[in-house]
Amino acid sequence: MKARYRFKKWRLTANPDVVGFTGKCTWCPQTSFTVPLPDEAQLWCLQHAGATGHKVYELATVQMFTATPDTQDHDGETKGKGDHARR
Ligand SMILES: [Zn+2]
Repeated sequence: MKARYRFKKWRLTANPDVVGFTGKCTWCPQTSFTVPLPDEAQLWCLQHAGATGHKVYELATVQMFTATPDTQDHDGETKGKGDHARR
């Protein structure tokens, strides 16, 4: 008797209304929280510089995504991918 397992497909959808900013120190692994305004991320960089003396930073824009189960039928596309048989 064989059991057949199949991975569930998921889909990512970008949420254009939710964008954030993150400050990152390039001299150590510390980063700010993701905040809604770039000024807030830059303030974290200045505070980190004052506390540590670290002088080089990155400001990154963060795009939020929502993961949802993909309910579309993909039988023709996924055949052989993600299927695992137990023996
Ligand atoms: Zn640092």
